[in-house]
Amino acid sequence: MTILLSNDDGYDAPGLKALEQELSSLGRVVVVAPDREQSGAAHSLTLNHPLRVHQVDENCYRVEGTPTDCVNLAIFQLLKDDRPNLVVSGINRGYNLGDDVTYSGTVAAALEGVLLEIPSFAVSLNSRGAVDFGPAARVAGQVARLVLAQGLPRDTLLNINVPSGDPTEMRITRQGRRVYSEGVVERTDPQGRAYYWIGGTPPSWHPDPHSDFAAVERGEVSVTPLHLDLTNHRVLPEMRDWDLPFASGEPT
Ligand code: MN
Repeated sequence: MTILLSNDDGYDAPGLKALEQELSSLGRVVVVAPDREQSGAAHSLTLNHPLRVHQVDENCYRVEGTPTDCVNLAIFQLLKDDRPNLVVSGINRGYNLGDDVTYSGTVAAALEGVLLEIPSFAVSLNSRGAVDFGPAARVAGQVARLVLAQGLPRDTLLNINVPSGDPTEMRITRQGRRVYSEGVVERTDPQGRAYYWIGGTPPSWHPDPHSDFAAVERGEVSVTPLHLDLTNHRVLPEMRDWDLPFASGEPT
């Protein structure tokens, strides 16, 4: 059994170390992770400069690239003779809830695993208050055992968010929706020019008891199945009536 670990907080992040330690009882654990923090990197792939890989020890590589680069490189190159049975990303310091998953490098690493047809999940932990990665690592270990035993539905990754403390309940949830409010902080540099910080204020969410956000608010571990198909299938029927300027015959 080979398990590939990555993250977006960097190869030496404590959340990754906790995960590595927890999963080591399940098989060979190989870390291929960015050499520095890549939070917010989303599903980006490095195409315009070479990717350098540094082997830290027998089962750890740091990559001068994004989380997606790491998983891609691991599967197609570093582990091409020992294809991973599972990809786990995290444990991220900070939640990846709702719409925020589209910015997340943590989730993107698991997304890349699924794209390359390996069961994958991402784990993120509340970063407010005292951060103890132990409970989230144990959750990851339990989910890893489950996924290795029974697999995951096709084209599906799990986005797991763990609240603070030692949660005892888990819930299958859906992706919540963020309320976008004033999130940009303006400052002035020494030359008098304005510059900005994005995301300075804590997020708020549309109320939905079935959402990931609501679950962690209740102190439950949230498990959201995500998939790669961004098509809005619900609107396809109504869009069939659209009078496209270059409509090509009967709709499919
Ligand atoms: Mn991060």
